[in-house]
Amino acid sequence: MKKIQMVDLKSQYEKIKDQVDAGIQEVIDTTTFIKGGKVNDFQKNLEKYLDVKHVIPVGNGTDALQIALMALGLKQGDEVITPTFTFIATAEVVALLGLTPVVVDVDFDTFNISVESVKKAITPKTKAIVPVHLFGQNADMEAILELAKEYGLYVVEDACQSIGSVYNFADGRKVKSGCMGNIGCTSFFPSKNLGCYGDGGALFTNDDELAAKIRAIANHGMVVRYHHDIVGVNSRLDSIQAAILDVKLKYLDEYIYNRQAAANYYDKAFENCERLIVPVRNEKSTHVFHQYTLKLRNIDRAGLQKYLESKGIPAMIYYPVPLHLQKAYQDERYKPGDFPVAEELSACVLSLPMHTELSVEQLEYITKSVLEYVV
Ligand SMILES: *Cc1c(COP(=O)(O)O)cnc(C)c1O
Repeated sequence: MKKIQMVDLKSQYEKIKDQVDAGIQEVIDTTTFIKGGKVNDFQKNLEKYLDVKHVIPVGNGTDALQIALMALGLKQGDEVITPTFTFIATAEVVALLGLTPVVVDVDFDTFNISVESVKKAITPKTKAIVPVHLFGQNADMEAILELAKEYGLYVVEDACQSIGSVYNFADGRKVKSGCMGNIGCTSFFPSKNLGCYGDGGALFTNDDELAAKIRAIANHGMVVRYHHDIVGVNSRLDSIQAAILDVKLKYLDEYIYNRQAAANYYDKAFENCERLIVPVRNEKSTHVFHQYTLKLRNIDRAGLQKYLESKGIPAMIYYPVPLHLQKAYQDERYKPGDFPVAEELSACVLSLPMHTELSVEQLEYITKSVLEYVV
């Protein structure tokens, strides 16, 4: 049996090696390392895949979030609502821009932002909501978009973990993750569902004006060469990464299928164990399983993690500390106990290996080992 890893990028690469290597070689042969053919090809193909008007590739997912907030023209003191149970980048860019991050609790079932909590957090200073489609499942976007409309707020989707996931609106429309709000952001970090071999990210929007502004901001605020109309940054996807992504995009649906098959295997193996709460599938959204995250009930998490480690099985805690309890974000507004669901999740979640190359043999070994400790 192959060594079990949280993510097995090597085995995945081996299956597409010829195409990836040829793509990289082509970039080197043409020496168009920045911008140019491969980036344009990938952009067009991703627009088609997502059915969105504009994809703007940038340097990484964190940049994408920052550029999104810059493009919306938010000003110092404007409040941006985001879940407290997420990766730090979401709140980080809000803080870096001098905006005020307002964190809210999440739903226990889905790990995603609680619409009720968002509603309660809206003030006259609120300008935007940044829902995070955590672990690969879309937040309750129908309700969030309604709320945004009612209060005149922007919605920036953090789709860094959910690319390819589909949301079903009540009227029958099916829309891909990141393409529902004003702007969607994603990351091509290697371990993400569509990962490159370095850093990468992108913004999505159906708004022509926003797209032009985003393009300018990502390129030093420049529309006409060496004329800088707005303050921008330098954030680009390089051509080698685009070449790799353009190959992998063709396999994204297959990769999602493999992740879902692994999740189904885990679900089935744990279905009779009351102390393991498997991820809840939401009928409004497909789940692309960036992570397969269990909630443990009356189980010594550190003990289980150690036991699995002794058997060669990695397991990770995403995320051990909610944003409002992070040192850098300590704030007189928040104290322990303020967001009980997020705090409970931080104490009971455990993510098992999840990637596109898990074999039945590996899944059998992992689930057996978990149950040995738990039952
Ligand atoms: C990975 C991730 C990011 C940041 O992406 P980078 O490309 O690493 O900058 C932001 N938000 C979430 C939820 C993520 O998972």
